[in-house]
Amino acid sequence: MESKEAHTGSRRVYDPGDLKQLVGDVGTEGVRNRMRCEKCGSQQWLSVEFWIPTAQELEGLTVRRLVGTRMIRKVILRDGPAG
Ligand SMILES: [Zn+2]
Repeated sequence: MESKEAHTGSRRVYDPGDLKQLVGDVGTEGVRNRMRCEKCGSQQWLSVEFWIPTAQELEGLTVRRLVGTRMIRKVILRDGPAG
Protein backbone atom coordinates (compact mmCIF):
# COMPACT_ATOMS: atom_id res chain seq x y z
CA MET A 1 0.00 0.00 0.00
CA GLU A 2 1.39 3.32 -0.98
CA SER A 3 0.53 6.80 0.18
CA LYS A 4 1.55 9.94 -1.61
CA GLU A 5 1.37 13.44 -0.35
CA ALA A 6 1.50 15.96 -3.13
CA HIS A 7 1.99 18.82 -0.73
CA THR A 8 5.24 17.62 0.85
CA GLY A 9 6.09 15.18 -1.90
CA SER A 10 6.40 12.43 0.65
CA ARG A 11 5.74 8.90 -0.41
CA ARG A 12 5.33 6.11 2.05
CA VAL A 13 4.89 2.44 1.62
CA TYR A 14 2.96 0.41 4.14
CA ASP A 15 2.35 -3.25 4.62
CA PRO A 16 -1.34 -3.91 3.93
CA GLY A 17 -1.39 -6.32 6.88
CA ASP A 18 -0.22 -3.57 9.19
CA LEU A 19 -2.87 -1.19 7.95
CA LYS A 20 -5.53 -3.82 8.38
CA GLN A 21 -4.47 -4.13 11.99
CA LEU A 22 -4.58 -0.39 12.48
CA VAL A 23 -7.69 0.73 10.70
CA GLY A 24 -9.40 -2.51 9.74
CA ASP A 25 -10.25 -3.86 6.34
CA VAL A 26 -11.47 -0.57 4.97
CA GLY A 27 -9.90 -0.40 1.53
CA THR A 28 -7.74 2.38 0.15
CA GLU A 29 -10.43 5.03 0.55
CA GLY A 30 -10.93 4.11 4.19
CA VAL A 31 -7.21 4.22 4.82
CA ARG A 32 -7.00 7.61 3.20
CA ASN A 33 -9.77 8.91 5.43
CA ARG A 34 -7.77 7.92 8.48
CA MET A 35 -4.48 9.32 7.36
CA ARG A 36 -3.15 12.78 7.67
CA CYS A 37 -0.15 14.61 6.36
CA GLU A 38 2.51 14.55 9.04
CA LYS A 39 3.49 18.11 8.20
CA CYS A 40 0.29 20.05 7.67
CA GLY A 41 -2.23 17.66 9.18
CA SER A 42 -4.40 17.86 6.07
CA GLN A 43 -5.85 15.07 3.99
CA GLN A 44 -6.33 17.29 1.02
CA TRP A 45 -3.23 16.30 -0.86
CA LEU A 46 -3.11 12.72 0.16
CA SER A 47 -3.64 9.81 -2.13
CA VAL A 48 -3.52 6.16 -1.19
CA GLU A 49 -3.37 3.30 -3.57
CA PHE A 50 -2.88 -0.38 -3.47
CA TRP A 51 0.42 -1.22 -5.00
CA ILE A 52 2.34 -4.40 -5.31
CA PRO A 53 6.02 -3.76 -5.88
CA THR A 54 7.93 -5.80 -8.38
CA ALA A 55 11.03 -7.67 -7.24
CA GLN A 56 13.09 -4.84 -8.68
CA GLU A 57 11.11 -2.18 -6.84
CA LEU A 58 11.43 -4.13 -3.60
CA GLU A 59 15.13 -3.56 -3.63
CA GLY A 60 16.05 -0.63 -1.47
CA LEU A 61 12.40 -0.03 -0.61
CA THR A 62 11.63 1.45 2.76
CA VAL A 63 8.45 0.15 4.29
CA ARG A 64 6.78 1.79 7.22
CA ARG A 65 6.09 -1.08 9.55
CA LEU A 66 3.82 -1.17 12.49
CA VAL A 67 5.97 -1.54 15.56
CA GLY A 68 3.20 -1.36 18.07
CA THR A 69 0.27 0.67 19.22
CA ARG A 70 0.28 2.60 22.42
CA MET A 71 -2.69 3.70 24.37
CA ILE A 72 -2.31 7.12 25.87
CA ARG A 73 -3.77 7.53 29.29
CA LYS A 74 -5.19 10.91 29.98
CA VAL A 75 -5.33 12.26 33.47
CA ILE A 76 -8.23 14.53 34.27
CA LEU A 77 -8.06 16.56 37.44
CA ARG A 78 -10.57 18.88 38.92
CA ASP A 79 -10.47 21.11 41.98
CA GLY A 80 -13.12 20.49 44.59
CA PRO A 81 -13.83 20.87 48.29
CA ALA A 82 -11.70 18.87 50.72
CA GLY A 83 -13.63 15.96 52.16
ZN1 LIG B 1 0.90 18.34 3.83
